[in-house]
Order: sequence, then C-alpha cells, then structure tokens
Amino acid sequence: MKIEERLVTERNRRLLLRRRPVGLPVPEDFDLVEEAIPKPGDGAILVRNHLCSLDPGIRGWLEDAPSYIPPIALNDAIRAITVGSIIMSRHPDFQTGNWVVGMNAIEDYSIATPDGFLRVIDPESVSSLSLYLSVLGGLGVTAYFGVMDVCRPRPGETMLINGAAGAVGSLVGQIAKIKGCRTIGIAGGPAKCKRLIERYGFDAAIDHRGKSSSELSAALAAVAPDGVDMVFENVGGMLLDTALMHVKLHARVALCGLISEYNSTTGPIGARNLWQLIVKRATVQGFFVGDFSHRSAEAHVALAAWLKEGLLVIDEHIEEGIENAVPAFLRLFSGTHDGKLILRIAA
Ligand code: NDP
Repeated sequence: MKIEERLVTERNRRLLLRRRPVGLPVPEDFDLVEEAIPKPGDGAILVRNHLCSLDPGIRGWLEDAPSYIPPIALNDAIRAITVGSIIMSRHPDFQTGNWVVGMNAIEDYSIATPDGFLRVIDPESVSSLSLYLSVLGGLGVTAYFGVMDVCRPRPGETMLINGAAGAVGSLVGQIAKIKGCRTIGIAGGPAKCKRLIERYGFDAAIDHRGKSSSELSAALAAVAPDGVDMVFENVGGMLLDTALMHVKLHARVALCGLISEYNSTTGPIGARNLWQLIVKRATVQGFFVGDFSHRSAEAHVALAAWLKEGLLVIDEHIEEGIENAVPAFLRLFSGTHDGKLILRIAA
C-alpha cells in the first residue's frame, strides 16, 4: 500500500494522559484513542513505532513537578523511547526506510525531529532490534556511566546493587564484574535471586521481600562483613537506608533511581542514616543518563564488544499490543517482569 493511501486508511492509536495519577497509576488515568495519522512538516519525519521502552522514569513525567524534562501535559500522548521505521521524511539526514530510536510516545505513529535524541540504527548489526532499548540504548548508557564515572570501581572492591534483577541493575552487576569487583545484589523473591547468581554472575544475592530493615541488615552483614565500597541505588526507601549502614570508608553511592518512592502519596520518603556518610566520609552522587548523551558512543562501543564476547546476558520481557500498555507499565512497580520491560506496538 502506498504511503499516502496508508495515511488515509489507517488510524493512529495513542495512549493519552487524562489525569495525573495519585499513587499507583490506574487505567482511568489514561485513554487509548484513535486519531488521524499526522503528516510531518519541514525538518520532521513520520515514524511507525514497533517497540516501546517502558521505563520507571515515565512515572515521574506524569507528575506536574520539576524534573530533568518537562511533565507530560494532560491529554498528550505518554512520552516513551521507541524503535521504529521512517515512513515519510522531510529531513535531509533521515531517509524513508531507515530505522530509528528516539524519544517519541506510546502511539502507532510519531512525528519526530532530531531534537528527540533521534538516532539511526542498523537492524542488520544486531540479533534483535529490542537491544536498542536495553544494552545498546539509554539503559546501557545509564548502567555504563553509573558504574564507570559515578562508582569508579577498582578491582577487588565490593559493589552492592539495589534493584539488581531489573534492567539497569542486572547490567550494572555484570559491568562491575567485568571490572573485577565483587557484586552483591538485592532483589524481590527467590527466583530473581537465583537469576542474579546463575545468569548474571553475582557473588551473593539477598531477597528483600518480607524482610525488616534489621533482617536485611543482618543478611547484608553476613555476605559483606567488612562493608561495601559502592552502592548502586535503584530503589531507595528502606533498601537505601539499610545499605548506608554498610558503607566502607570513602564509599561511593550512585543514586540512579528511587523507584520505591515514585508512587508515594505522602511525598518524597527521603533517606535515613545519612549520618553514616559523615562517619564514613562517603560520597553520594545523583546522575541522569542525559548528562552522558555526548559520550553515549563510548558506552555503546564497550557494551557491544562485551556482548559480542559473550560477557553480558540481556533479558527482556516483551508485552504485546498497545491496548496492554497500562497493565504492562504497572509491572515495573509490582516487579512481575524479568529483564527489560518492552511493549511491542507493531510486529
Ligand atoms: P526495573 O527493570 O529494575 O524494574 C523496577 C524494579 O524495581 C522492579 O522489578 C522491582 O524489583 C523494583 N521495585 C519496584 N517497586 C518497588 C518498591 N516499592 N520497593 C522495592 N522495589 C521495588 O527498572 P529499570 O531497571 O528500568 O530502572 C531501575 C531504576 O533506574 C529506576 O529507579 C529508574 O527510575 C532508574 N533509572 C534512572 C536513570 C537515570 O538516568 N538516572 C535512567 C534509567 C533508569 P524487585 O522485584 O526485585 O524488588
């Protein structure tokens, strides 16, 4: 079917934000609508989205609060990173038929411009396009620079990773291992802990589900009696509070995410035990993947090489269909996914 015909006969399904969630999002906060497929103006392209990255960060953009990018406006489509093919181009650097990854939205078709972190990708060079949403995408950049620049690991040091079985955490653990570190992962449930050891090569795994802070602390002391040199934090709350009680002198704490707080109805939860940072002269550094966009090639080259050498295991959990976007997204907060959470919008 010719593209002009397609634009007239097909519709663009879009997931819109209807109201701002209070606590855990519910289906009524969103609306799946059908609209006409838009035409790109000068300097823009029309992308047919195939795969969409479901990230905890999206939860932050649903809030009307200052962040590293503006909030999603009410009645706008839910912003998300997608992989898609160019259907129509009015930009000299992008050709129809090219595949791209960029910040678009949960919708069939997006109008994109180079401002949206748009990158042309080569489907022939990878076993699956979905890798551009995980290890070869922003997630890889997050894990790589979070370890290399923020944690600054030295061989023989110990890294504790909260949210270790997730997309970022599992990659962080494997990078730390490549750099000669001992890795301790905290995750929810025995199956995830088994995966940490058997698939991602962690030295120790602790199940946080159902544990009090003192029980978690005892489990941590058992596997790291001398403490930890680095904490890679994805979760916050009780897990971070406990981790801080186990840092060594001059430890580095990389604040990547605080997912346990994202659905809080009482505002930010905050960290306790900050006094340990004084006692241990430790450093806490928050970081954002966008700060490293000018160096993303450096991360991708290293990660692609490790992938080729068989040093990295990348797991994906792919949910099918835009109509399942909301329940799929909520899996991030129940932990009922194994690996990078992705939504397939088109085959
Ligand atoms: P994950 O694949 O790790 O999924 C989220 C996991 O968080 C769940 O599987 C669950 O793991 C855990 N979790 C969710 N809710 C809670 C809770 N209330 N208490 C304890 N654990 C919880 O997601 P990602 O790997 O994509 O993201 C990990 C973190 O990295 C997030 O905080 C995200 O915001 C952050 N991030 C930060 C970036 C940056 O630039 N700074 C960029 C990308 C991500 P389990 O079942 O094991 O408990």
